[in-house]
Amino acid sequence: MDSNFIKSTLSENDSSFLSPLRPNNLDDFIGQKIIKERLKIFIGAAKKRNESLGHIIFSGPPGLGKTTLANIIAKTMGSNLVVSSGPVIEKPGDLAGILTSLKEKDVLFIDEIHRLNISVEEYLYSAMEDFQLDILIDSGPNARSVSVKLNPFTLIGATTRSGLLSAPMRSRFQFNARLDYYDASTLKDIILRSSKILGVSLEEKEAFQIAKRARGTPRVANNLIKWIRDFAQMQNFNKIDSKTVFDALKLLSIDDEGLDEMDKKILTTISKHFNGGPVGINTIGISIGEDANTLCEVYEPYLIMKGFLERTPRGRKITKLGLEHIKKII
Ligand code: ADP
Repeated sequence: MDSNFIKSTLSENDSSFLSPLRPNNLDDFIGQKIIKERLKIFIGAAKKRNESLGHIIFSGPPGLGKTTLANIIAKTMGSNLVVSSGPVIEKPGDLAGILTSLKEKDVLFIDEIHRLNISVEEYLYSAMEDFQLDILIDSGPNARSVSVKLNPFTLIGATTRSGLLSAPMRSRFQFNARLDYYDASTLKDIILRSSKILGVSLEEKEAFQIAKRARGTPRVANNLIKWIRDFAQMQNFNKIDSKTVFDALKLLSIDDEGLDEMDKKILTTISKHFNGGPVGINTIGISIGEDANTLCEVYEPYLIMKGFLERTPRGRKITKLGLEHIKKII
């Protein structure tokens, strides 16, 4: 990949961006068919008009491909990608520094955009809408506003908590897409693609076994292949068969529904300590020693998707299916 292609405000050569497993174009990006179709039209039309692309927001749990899509969009547009993240842009001055350095049609990717400081967010509104930055200089009676013209750019925001985005922010994105968990058959294709790139010899059957335990998430799937590769290497196995996959995953305590130790801890805690719920997310967090935000963003969506957990106005409740599952595993 062209090293000038990605300029990062986080680190110049963010290795996760240059990962060989990251697809580089929409055709290599497996699954999310409707989003891909819409993107092809959106990008194709902007290119035909020779305009910068409208602003885009991707939401959904971590590891589903939001950053990868931003990367692909910038490449397809032939634009530079500038990467930053909500918590890193602390002051309006930080944002001004980034925006004024953007060239025409550059793509600015802001990860965790829901964590932008509200004062920074307000500056972003006019930048997104009019490509103009109104900066307040000085304070008190000397305070005055200076307008800086910006080059037309594309903002791509990514969020794991779309509910925390303010309405004015949300309405400024022209393209809004929510990424869903991948089904096992799609994940199997992602696993076969990744194993080929990593030089791991894997058959469809074993790939499907891994896919079923990958929490519907490509990042988890890729991590599982790397783990299984390490496991097989240490046993001096040349080929990965079903038993190797089974033994390697057993060592990670991942069950056949893809639940890991923390998922199981959440379900058993609600069931045993709180009589099945409802119980508040902060209370669960304190009981199991995990941050409530991480529970909301990483664990809970998958447990809800599996039908093991329910979100009620009075807190989280384990479902009948969830109870049956933990009875099986403990
Ligand atoms: P997010 O930004 O949503 O947290 P990423 O874009 O960083 O997720 O994706 C995590 C990893 O999963 C990437 O390194 C990429 O290799 C892989 N990945 C994600 N989506 C896909 C996909 N649809 N096809 C192939 N690989 C994918």
